Amino acid sequence: MKQTHQSEPVLIAGGGIGGLAAALALVRAGYAVKVLEQAPQLGEIGAGIQLGPNAFAAFDALGIGPLARSRAVYTDEMVMHDALDASLVGRIPTGAEFRARFGNPYAVIHRADVHQSLLEGALECGRVEVCTATTVQRVEQDDAGVTVFDTAGRSHRGSLLVGADGVKSAVRRQYVGDDARVSGHVVYRAVVDKEQFPAELRWNAASIWVGPNCHLVHYPLRGGEQYNVVVTFHSREKEEWSVREGSRAEVQSYFEGISPVARQLIDLPKDWKRWATADREPIGQWAYGRAVLLGDAAHPTLQYLAQGACMAMEDAVTLGRALTEHGGDYRRAYAHYERARIARTARVVLSAREMGRIFHAKGVERLVRNQLWAGRSQERFYDALEWLYGWREQNCLGN
Ligand SMILES: Cc1cc2nc3c(=O)[nH]c(=O)nc-3n(C[C@H](O)[C@H](O)[C@H](O)COP(=O)(O)OP(=O)(O)OC[C@H]3O[C@@H](n4cnc5c(N)ncnc54)[C@H](O)[C@@H]3O)c2cc1C
Repeated sequence: MKQTHQSEPVLIAGGGIGGLAAALALVRAGYAVKVLEQAPQLGEIGAGIQLGPNAFAAFDALGIGPLARSRAVYTDEMVMHDALDASLVGRIPTGAEFRARFGNPYAVIHRADVHQSLLEGALECGRVEVCTATTVQRVEQDDAGVTVFDTAGRSHRGSLLVGADGVKSAVRRQYVGDDARVSGHVVYRAVVDKEQFPAELRWNAASIWVGPNCHLVHYPLRGGEQYNVVVTFHSREKEEWSVREGSRAEVQSYFEGISPVARQLIDLPKDWKRWATADREPIGQWAYGRAVLLGDAAHPTLQYLAQGACMAMEDAVTLGRALTEHGGDYRRAYAHYERARIARTARVVLSAREMGRIFHAKGVERLVRNQLWAGRSQERFYDALEWLYGWREQNCLGN
């Protein structure tokens, strides 16, 4: 165990993927940690996520590499089809050559399995206290530390505060107070058992079908025993940033004109969860005195690059490294963390918006999209992805 800092713990608002990754990173940097989570129990929703090789570099830096690796499904490729005529648009192999290039695999995994791996790592180290049913409401700071007040009227004292409380962060609301950009795009997600999933689509791939104002995604989970199904469409309604139970009738009312092979995906799930998505404009300041933002609280993004959780874990590793590098001088550490993270995560936010436009192209734009990657070599795909997947703990602080 490294030298320990401060008598008070570092408080972390939010026990999601970002908050637990931050807990692990801070313990590794020598801090005791107290996680404040609004939910009555720690856990994750039933859905899959994709993990780039940068996520595995972060798992290793957090000391849970083997645990997380044992729960992932390693894909052979990423594949994109046109949802109207089922033609192939692009294919990126993610096998041995991909691993050799980026030093880590591409994988798909149940969200709960990522969360559980982080939680097991955090509990094992013995320096993380988790307070559930604790909703952060407001923060006060003084020369010696921070006091966080929750909605039940309790107060929690710490040396520093990490705001990892997600897309509707209370910490961000207090210090930034900016508006969300509601996309009008609605995402439906479900996990279905292998037996219910069409045999012809049981590919070991992160697969996407791109259509006008919509797309559909599927990939295996848990050793291929389950499949994650995600469908996205431009809503006819005026949407607000929200998550709720989905309605089968609503999802079935979209996707007119889609090829039958893709359309069968929307008939599979019995229960859907529905996200009306949003992001925020990237901001140039994440540190406010002793409080600092991390994960979706810092850079909420549309999901089209499949990198939100990966970025949250990268943030956590970088924050821990910055605090170590600056010997616990949090002002200098936070400034270094901001320098290392703000442009990179803003690039993800802005690229994800652009990727959404490409996925959902229609008319002539669709024809252009379908030619974009024709004949492109594997090496050129890998070169284009280097900025994203080439992240490592060793280079996380930059210059
Ligand atoms: C449809 C969809 C698909 C996605 N696919 C991928 C993917 O393939 N790959 C990928 O890397 N990412 C993906 N993401 C993004 C990823 O889910 C998020 O970026 C990631 O979960 C961010 O983690 P976080 O800990 O910052 O926030 P969250 O996961 O939202 O966790 C925040 C935590 O804070 C708690 N909280 C909130 N407010 C308070 C409060 N006031 N007090 C106390 N606790 C509070 C919440 O209960 C929650 O536990 C996807 C997102 C969506 C919506």
